[in-house]
Amino acid sequence: MTQITNHMPTAALQALDAAHHMHPFTEDAALARKGARIITRGQGVWLTDSEGNRILDGMAGLWCVNIGYGRKELAEVAARQIEELCYYNTFFQTSHVPAIALAAKIAELAPGDLNHVFYAGSGSEANDTNIRLVRRYWDVKGQPERSVIISRHNAYHGSTMGGASLGGMAGMHAQGGLPIPGIVHIGQPHWYGEGGEMTPDAFGLMRARELEAKIEEIGPDRVAAFIGEPVQGAGGVIIPPATYWPEIQRICDKYGILLIADEVITGFGRTGNWFGSQTFGIRPHIMTIAKGLSSGYAPIGGSIICDEVYHTVAGSGEDFNHGYTYSGHPVAAAVALRNLELLQDEGIVEHVRTVANPYLAERWQALADHPLVGEASLVGLMGSIALTPDKARRAPFAAEAGTVGFRCRERCFANNLVMRHVGDRMIIAPPLVITPAEIDTLIERATRSLDECHAGLKSDGLLTAA
Ligand SMILES: *Cc1c(COP(=O)(O)O)cnc(C)c1O
Repeated sequence: MTQITNHMPTAALQALDAAHHMHPFTEDAALARKGARIITRGQGVWLTDSEGNRILDGMAGLWCVNIGYGRKELAEVAARQIEELCYYNTFFQTSHVPAIALAAKIAELAPGDLNHVFYAGSGSEANDTNIRLVRRYWDVKGQPERSVIISRHNAYHGSTMGGASLGGMAGMHAQGGLPIPGIVHIGQPHWYGEGGEMTPDAFGLMRARELEAKIEEIGPDRVAAFIGEPVQGAGGVIIPPATYWPEIQRICDKYGILLIADEVITGFGRTGNWFGSQTFGIRPHIMTIAKGLSSGYAPIGGSIICDEVYHTVAGSGEDFNHGYTYSGHPVAAAVALRNLELLQDEGIVEHVRTVANPYLAERWQALADHPLVGEASLVGLMGSIALTPDKARRAPFAAEAGTVGFRCRERCFANNLVMRHVGDRMIIAPPLVITPAEIDTLIERATRSLDECHAGLKSDGLLTAA
């Protein structure tokens, strides 16, 4: 067996990585010249890299390691399940205990009559399921012309052809012939960036009413569904104004279109409730789930489906011709179930709501006083700060968007803090188990990184507004 271990020198690992491993969302040739940072261990909110640095993971991996790294209970349940039944499918009138038990647990946790789970291997796959499911629903209802799905610019719904089409990422649509037909986009509720002189509440209403205008433009009898993240994550942690979701809900109800809440990030405690829909008062017909479902310990996602949609499709008299080899994979399902039990037994969602969010909110908000910061916002344990050269005008930098954000992220890396940048916004979503003492460390490192970034911008003449 080839020995590719943590104990190889970093340079050797980087060379092999550059030679053979093509990275997602990466300019690989540039990374090959620089060498990837190689992560070797994780414990709680802490990562260790191949150089022995101890890094505070302010992003919980990719918004997923909600329970924190290194939980033995999850290792044990995976090992036990592999020995007992490593794999079986759920296609041909068979089922297995992990898929059954996890579906029942998800139905118990999910609000309202979201009682049915269709499994996928990831959030992207689950959103592909949702496209086919809502179109199938209207087919069975005798309204096959209802096929258009409305989403939003700067939304993120995954990277498959369907998921990326639902998403509203301009950079993704520019590659590979996207979006696929039948998916249209309206404006996002991003007050800081796009609200101009309007109040947040007036802007939130205006952006929600773009849904009504779009439905009227397409024809109400042609619209199948609206999809949205309760809080846009990859788009920059955009927390919508309070007026936004109630108006979206009203419009969906008025036209009888299905509402899909993409809870891949906001699900399982991230916003201080089990689901972001509860935090924002949304009553979806379908929820997309992944990431925190297993805290990232195993790849698994799915759609939680309400009674009406489920019974319509399930009772159509025909198969729903859709599924994945790994739908409900027993090892992933067993790990996810144990993860949810631990979140519940250890009161981790309550910890977010009553301890971690209030403590972080105060310290995070104080960052808005930093000369480089135009806004600091937080819901539960997902937050953002907008960098600006001119706080009063919320002005963007003269430099190309993302230049300053990238420089700030580099300072964070140098200070052993993982904080991501989206354009010139810095974002965090730490593991839900983060303690007040660890929050202090996060804030100290973030502040130091902002100071260093600010000094660097000043000396390089980049503190100018567009
Ligand atoms: C990450 C993400 C997805 C895609 O999930 P994958 O598991 O990467 O396919 C979909 N929706 C949202 C809101 C996400 O954040």
